[in-house]
Amino acid sequence: MSGDQLQSFFIADEAAMVAFGGSLAASGLGGVVFLNGDLGMGKTTLCRGIIQSAGHQGAVKSPTYTLVEPYELEDRDIYHFDLYRLGDPEELEYFGVRDYFHDNALCLIEWPEKGEGVLPPADMLLNITVQNEGRLIELQPQTLKGQQLLANLQFDSE
Ligand code: ADP
Ligand code: MG
Repeated sequence: MSGDQLQSFFIADEAAMVAFGGSLAASGLGGVVFLNGDLGMGKTTLCRGIIQSAGHQGAVKSPTYTLVEPYELEDRDIYHFDLYRLGDPEELEYFGVRDYFHDNALCLIEWPEKGEGVLPPADMLLNITVQNEGRLIELQPQTLKGQQLLANLQFDSE
């Protein structure tokens, strides 16, 4: 599949970012999602929206130092990665990264380029850039799983 299918959403502020995460969770988001975008774009904010909407009732911390934060929820496992501080993709092998990529898991990965060569391919590419006072999110499905999510997604940007 190529990137001929691209959908964009304008996200006005932090609250809308969290709400968009809720829509993604409700659409049955699963598989491997690469979150691209510079520091401060709102990747972790979006992950918080997804993880809390999927049933986690506590804080969602940025896994900058731990590399991955697991959330074992009622109907799915979510693994939130932040690979910003990863020196070498091989380090991922040492903590058994492959165990995280199972069928019923959602893997949200910030800074996926740091894990290139070890991470499995993404089902969905998500890119965040600045637009006016808010953000533009572009979704690009890479697999059938990604396409199905996009078909189920309901979100009204203002
Ligand atoms: P990242 O994980 O990409 O480094 P963070 O999620 O830590 O970014 O958030 C960076 C900042 O951007 C936060 O202060 C947050 O309030 C703000 N922010 C998040 N989403 C939006 C948005 N849609 N519009 C404007 N600011 C936002
Ligand atoms: Mg972050």
